[in-house]
Amino acid sequence: MEVLSFKNVSKNYCNKGEPLKVLKNIEFSLLEGEIIAITGPSGSGKTTILNLISGLLQPTIGEIENMFQKDHLFEWRTVYDNILLGLEIKKMLTKENLEKVDRMLDVYGLKDFKDNYPHELSGGMRQRVALIRTLAVNPTILLLDEPFAALDYQTKLKVCDDMYKIIKSEKKATIIVTHDITEAISIADKVIVLSPRPAEIKKIYQINLTIDGERTPFKSRSANEFKDYFNEIWQELNNNV
Ligand code: ADP
Ligand code: MG
Repeated sequence: MEVLSFKNVSKNYCNKGEPLKVLKNIEFSLLEGEIIAITGPSGSGKTTILNLISGLLQPTIGEIENMFQKDHLFEWRTVYDNILLGLEIKKMLTKENLEKVDRMLDVYGLKDFKDNYPHELSGGMRQRVALIRTLAVNPTILLLDEPFAALDYQTKLKVCDDMYKIIKSEKKATIIVTHDITEAISIADKVIVLSPRPAEIKKIYQINLTIDGERTPFKSRSANEFKDYFNEIWQELNNNV
């Protein structure tokens, strides 16, 4: 089932009275439980796509929630109070939702930290808190804009694996924007490659990797097909005719 579809979407901004063409004929759809990575040159319109999904365009079904580059945790609120914030704002503080939060805190290893403050947590734990807060309000689609950009390489791999596990076990349809091709291939079911502005879809790659046991982004990186996808996407990105 499709949870989102873009049909022939274009977007212009107005720049000093002149139209700035940013997106041109963008078409793709996102299926239930699927992870799509969008990659492309800086300034091509990736964030614009997320902004369209969260505001200007109507999704096929449901509600859309956004999670940004920074984790936006409030330093004066505890982990638990940060997580409840989304539910509070949406007036969704039901017994059922509170139980769900408790379950996620437990499953994702944050139970013993619920009364701590954000500055007492590692970068990876902060990301998990932000993710649980987003998932608590049960969005149909999870939008992630360069979520690992601020992390060092080793932490990035670890946090990426953690997040993948959470997203897959909650079966959330997800769109993740990243300029890092390896990250895109390691995490996504499909990778959408954009051209420079005005961005068109150059190609959509269906990622099929041979992996022993359950897939994780880390295992994806050592699958046989990984390098071939990397080379193809790299060439696609650098071939701007
Ligand atoms: P990306 O996320 O791929 O780096 P963006 O979607 O942020 O790219 O931006 C695409 C282009 O649109 C850039 O050239 C940017 O300067 C321009 N842009 C983004 N937002 C606006 C805006 N509100 N008004 C005018 N131009 C914008
Ligand atoms: Mg951006």
